[in-house]
Amino acid sequence: MIRYICDLCRREIDSTREVCYHVEIQISAAFEPVTEDEPDDRDHLEEIHDLLESLNQLGDEAYESAHETLRFDLCPQCRRRFLSNPLGRDAGKLLGFSKN
Ligand SMILES: [Zn+2]
Repeated sequence: MIRYICDLCRREIDSTREVCYHVEIQISAAFEPVTEDEPDDRDHLEEIHDLLESLNQLGDEAYESAHETLRFDLCPQCRRRFLSNPLGRDAGKLLGFSKN
């Protein structure tokens, strides 16, 4: 039997009594850095090379944030808490987290 651990409160989810919820958060760039128009006869490999170089120049952070998927397992209680504040705004003021 697969054991599920809630990624938020770290307790084991009893799959015989409760539902385990999968949360997937996909982060993707709304737009990519715009490069100036190049002539059509450019070598595509060279273009890719240049693109990679320019991404390197932007730094790892810019490249990594282009697309990312985060996956979590949540117990029913933490699912509710997550849905009420998915972006963790005002995390310090959240009710409920200290009651565990
Ligand atoms: Zn939980």
